[in-house]
Amino acid sequence: MSILLISDLHLEQERPDISRAFLRFLETRAVDAQALYILGDFFEVWIGDDAITPFQRSIAQALRHLSERGTRVYLMHGNRDFLLGNAFCQEAGCTLLPDPCVIELNGERVLLMHGDSLCTQDIAYMKLRRWLRNPICQFVLRNLPLNTRQKLARKLRNESRSQTRMKASEIVDVTPEEVPRIMAAHRVRTLIHGHTHRPATHQLLVNGEPAQRIVLGDWDKQGWALQVDRQGIQQNAFDLAVGLETQQ
Ligand code: MN
Repeated sequence: MSILLISDLHLEQERPDISRAFLRFLETRAVDAQALYILGDFFEVWIGDDAITPFQRSIAQALRHLSERGTRVYLMHGNRDFLLGNAFCQEAGCTLLPDPCVIELNGERVLLMHGDSLCTQDIAYMKLRRWLRNPICQFVLRNLPLNTRQKLARKLRNESRSQTRMKASEIVDVTPEEVPRIMAAHRVRTLIHGHTHRPATHQLLVNGEPAQRIVLGDWDKQGWALQVDRQGIQQNAFDLAVGLETQQ
């Protein structure tokens, strides 16, 4: 039995190659897993569960199908889809996780985060994040008319960047000192997060003890998945188009 962790798929109708690869990933790999963790920015944009599109609904149904076949599905908010709510989770048969959140993997405490809250050098974004995550602001946001939310989402996505996907160089990286601080606070030696689009495993010291920070890759030119099983923890990239090739 294995556990799979993915993040930053940025699913959107405009990238059918990614959603097809994801659906295939569910049918081939996730179906054999005990649990699937999606650590944020699953959708490129989410303006409220009441505004779900047919495309997004098809993804929810695929997740529900997976959970009905026995794989538990956990979802964490990213900075793009922080308005994903209970209605979506119910429809998709998944459980919403707080950010940060500690789980147990192979008997070890592991800290899961989306990762944006580690990028404290982006002061403007951190301010915006505090505002957007405030329960009162979220209540107001969720109750804005649909077209106002759509306009706001477009603004937040930043028009100039919306044509091309975010490259790692355009995303502020984590603040180095922030990592051991939060890991020590949660008494973990492993942190897994996404957001920065810089897949890697970093070794570090937390209170003088060896520790690791695993960064999940974003799905763009290729897909990424971290697998945890008895052999340990391993992240692999795979070709998004493979599913298409084998179907033909
Ligand atoms: Mn993100």
